[in-house]
Amino acid sequence: MKTIGLIGGMSWESTALYYQWLNEGVKAQLGGLHSAKIVLVSVDFAEIEALQHAGDWDAAGDILATAARSLDAAGAELILICTNTMHKVAPAVESATSVPLLHLADSTAERLIAAGVKRVGLLGTAFTMEQDFYVGRLRERHQLDVVVPTAEQRAAVHRIIYDELCLGEIRDASRTSYLDIIASMHANGCEAVILGCTEITLLVKQHHTPVPLFDTTAIHAEVALERAINS
Ligand code: GLU
Repeated sequence: MKTIGLIGGMSWESTALYYQWLNEGVKAQLGGLHSAKIVLVSVDFAEIEALQHAGDWDAAGDILATAARSLDAAGAELILICTNTMHKVAPAVESATSVPLLHLADSTAERLIAAGVKRVGLLGTAFTMEQDFYVGRLRERHQLDVVVPTAEQRAAVHRIIYDELCLGEIRDASRTSYLDIIASMHANGCEAVILGCTEITLLVKQHHTPVPLFDTTAIHAEVALERAINS
């Protein structure tokens, strides 16, 4: 079994899910007392969030590149950035070490294509929904027709992520807002919706809606497990 390196803490609410789900996955596949081999660098999200909103992605990239080198030194054989948004600095992480990065957009796209989805809605931070590093990758590398919510809806989705979900606050009213947005994207022809922020899974689950959801936290952990156990 390979050692999985996690760059986490963005926020720790979702990194905790990665840790739990990776271990549950290894136990389900290997049984007994087996558990995942994991090394984790967990950053201070307040520092990262300030750099994000200041647009200082170079400084944020330096922090994640340093984390990647630490994971390499600690024996990681595969690296995951445990947030969609911070894939904005994936190139800095990839150039910091020769350990392969499991890119979350690619893992998600592979699942969508395998399910036959062509037109898909995307929920995430404003950075993820509005900038090219994520949507562009899904469109150009994977030929997916990606739809994002309206400006007003995007503002609400972004606010709920930072003001609630990253603080561990789960509110029914916010779930209703997300479900309304998911329904409107479905009505707009989306066959499925990507939960493109690793905390959304805390708020919205598949049983809340008939619209097929692609939960990036679960997909990332599942694909990492496949790589760690089978290759
Ligand atoms: N974890 C979230 C994501 O997947 C948002 C927090 C962050 O900005 O990294 O995008």
